[in-house]
Amino acid sequence: MMKQNNHYKLATIFVSATLILSVILLAKSGAASAFNDEDEFVTNGKRYSSYSAYLQSDEFRNSGGRCGFDSIREKFRHRYDEEKAALDCSLFQSDNLGDYFPNVIYTIPVWVHVIRADDGLTGEVSDALINSQIDVLNEDYRAGANTPGGSGNDAQIQFRLAGVSRYNNSIWFYAGEEIYAYMSSMAKDPHRYLNIYTKELGTLLGIASAPAESAGQSDDSVMINYRHFGRNSPDTAPYDQGRTTTHEVGHYLGLDHPWGIFGGCPNGDPPFCYSNGDLICDTNPEEREIYGCPYQPESCGSLDPYKNYMNYTDDSCMDQFTIEQVYRMRCSLENYRPNLYEGNTDPTPPPTPTPCTDGLTPVFRLYSEGLLVHLFTTDENEKNVLDAGPVWNFEGIAWYVYPGPRDGVVPVYRLYSDALKVHLYTTDENEKNVLNATSIWNFEVIAWYVLPGYQDGAVPVYRLYSDGLKKHLYTRDENEKNVLNATSVWVYETIAYYAYATCQ
Ligand SMILES: [Zn+2]
Repeated sequence: MMKQNNHYKLATIFVSATLILSVILLAKSGAASAFNDEDEFVTNGKRYSSYSAYLQSDEFRNSGGRCGFDSIREKFRHRYDEEKAALDCSLFQSDNLGDYFPNVIYTIPVWVHVIRADDGLTGEVSDALINSQIDVLNEDYRAGANTPGGSGNDAQIQFRLAGVSRYNNSIWFYAGEEIYAYMSSMAKDPHRYLNIYTKELGTLLGIASAPAESAGQSDDSVMINYRHFGRNSPDTAPYDQGRTTTHEVGHYLGLDHPWGIFGGCPNGDPPFCYSNGDLICDTNPEEREIYGCPYQPESCGSLDPYKNYMNYTDDSCMDQFTIEQVYRMRCSLENYRPNLYEGNTDPTPPPTPTPCTDGLTPVFRLYSEGLLVHLFTTDENEKNVLDAGPVWNFEGIAWYVYPGPRDGVVPVYRLYSDALKVHLYTTDENEKNVLNATSIWNFEVIAWYVLPGYQDGAVPVYRLYSDGLKKHLYTRDENEKNVLNATSVWVYETIAYYAYATCQ
């Protein structure tokens, strides 16, 4: 369990930092034309069918472009010893995190600086995208019910858009590291505002300053590649749901990546885990960055925190901060950014999302590690009660369905087997009747209503069966379906029905 490959990893970080600088400079020197009007994306002489295809390529993943924070932290490595002994949430150690239990809401005013090229068009980020980005931050940091981050921990940190500045300045827009000097002309009091800059970053998605080193200085900032700002940022999948900003703000509030400073598999037991890895003990050690959205990946002998906002997985894969990450962020605010948050007795409840249009309702997926079984329910109260107990864990919103009958939908029958202790769902009335006539299955209720076939915007819900476990499993995740079907345990049976992946 010793820190492994230190030299290798350090070398990687330096290479990454160099690459990050070079992609910024590359953009400055005109290679920004890699983003052309056609779908095709060209970089380093290589052609990709789209920017999105590039973002999912090994070339992007090996470039260090996902996040530039490693290069920021490395700048302060020479101060390792003095830093380590500093406040409870220094750059290299955590102490007394339990003292930072969230009991009041901290609201952070945000000033967004949209830096555009001289033409005033290149680099534009609309007000709608800016507002949607603030929404995403609030959903994620408050773990708002029925939002994509609803299964996380409520950090009781929220964000308020205080203002937007727009600039037409190609020198700033294309600047590499010099941008930090130019910020002195733009920054809104960094002691009192979170300054977020959007600009050309080449193929780097985002970068943030560390509170222990930069709090309150003119270059104290979160910088986001303008293409990746806001929810549903165009043509930037799989980093198009505003989670680049959620991630970078996490750095700004004192968090590190789950693989931490050196990578490898550091000792994950307290107290060691407070001074290695990501300086947090309730994120399992992770050997290295994870991309995409693999099915329950493991390294270092435990499940990797692949859904954590501080990982490198797809935006749609992420849904949580751990409670100790919440403590560390609040520690960073209280110690390094004491004038940044306001209204700290604000009783504002977590944001409630706009109700789904067209009456759709979420299906919550819970899992019991003891029972090795999933449970699906549209009853939020049932979900909350089960999730609070020791048996069930809420995993996320599975898909969206109709709670009642309407034109073009069919009922989903729920059956239960007391002998097998599992539920079965079917839209097949005949299957329902046949099973109900046996001594094993009992028809309980119509669970919800779904589409029997494909319709615009709908997604298939796959049904798998395990003969060994005598259980069905339902998923709309094609990757999960394929991974499970490749095992000897699960067999893909059929498309159960069609539902919606989002609230519409
Ligand atoms: Zn990062």
